[in-house]
Amino acid sequence: MARPVPTIDEIRQAPKVLLHDHLDGGLRPATIIELAGEIGYTDSLPSTDPDELGRWFVEAANSGSLERYLETFDHTVAVMQTAEGLQRVAAECAEDLAADGVVYAEVRFAPEQHTARGLSLSEVVAVVLSGFAIGSHRAAEAGHQIRVGTLLTAMRHQARSMEIAELAVEFRDEGVVGFDIAGAEAGFPPTRHLDAFEYLQRENFHFTIHAGEAFGLPSIWQAIQWCGADRLGHGVRIVDDIARTPNGHRIGRLAQYLRDKRIPLELCPSSNVQTGAAASIAEHPIGLLHDLRFRVTVNTDNRLMSGTSMSREMALLAEAFGYGWNDLQWFTVNAMKSAFIGFDERLALINDVIKPAYAKLIG
Ligand SMILES: [Zn+2]
Repeated sequence: MARPVPTIDEIRQAPKVLLHDHLDGGLRPATIIELAGEIGYTDSLPSTDPDELGRWFVEAANSGSLERYLETFDHTVAVMQTAEGLQRVAAECAEDLAADGVVYAEVRFAPEQHTARGLSLSEVVAVVLSGFAIGSHRAAEAGHQIRVGTLLTAMRHQARSMEIAELAVEFRDEGVVGFDIAGAEAGFPPTRHLDAFEYLQRENFHFTIHAGEAFGLPSIWQAIQWCGADRLGHGVRIVDDIARTPNGHRIGRLAQYLRDKRIPLELCPSSNVQTGAAASIAEHPIGLLHDLRFRVTVNTDNRLMSGTSMSREMALLAEAFGYGWNDLQWFTVNAMKSAFIGFDERLALINDVIKPAYAKLIG
């Protein structure tokens, strides 16, 4: 008899690891409304009812219109311009992830987007880090242990990547564990920021690059072979380098390289369906990439815009592909192995937290 698929309530109890989550994509609707009230932004919000506002974000992200999708971030970023606002959003992010059973998360944000009301880049980073510390402490008091690492993101259409890379290295002992570039891929190849990536490599620092989401193989190839990315943000289009054959699959050289080198793919199923990178969860390439044993990880991307959580992403995959606890453990261990914290710390979380919990679930 086939084992029942784990339910979302069961999955919430299991330890999970999240590597790709945007701070400005995960606010609580009620917090947006309160912070908007404090800074005189209320009239610009689509709704002042938390449930209605939450639905608006998901609908706008579902609309297929890039304009409406981008508008969602105008509202979240607008209320993340003060020390109080940023700290609160970061603290609640840590609490929400912990309550969902996430034991280790890397949350990213772009400091340059939070200076409109006079905060300096360093102040933005310091206050977000303090927010994560406050939220992690509160979560521990509520019985949920979480460790949050921070990634600093540079916007790929801007020219501040070197400055942000230096900022990330400056805060490496304060909780910043890596660097990322994000934003529209088309027309802004990662090699545009080569100096920043070369600097990070000389500093022995870690970075991931949003690549292979909307755009295909050339973007992935540049991110890995020119820029030296440790991980790929999405990377889902690597399936373009894999062809079905009558006896199985033919894997192209780039895909083979990724698989051989165990390069982590930060896959975000619901987000990919919203942006059209995948037609549905059931048709998401994660199924194929899992079967071919790429270093696949499961992520949320923007929890508010996708109306999702780590548990929900895993529950959707379990339902679509029939995944059981062994598969969910595999995703979780993959993510932990791919984290940007030190080897000893990763191993401790795998051996002391993740494996014992899944051993009970697998039974
Ligand atoms: Zn992303």
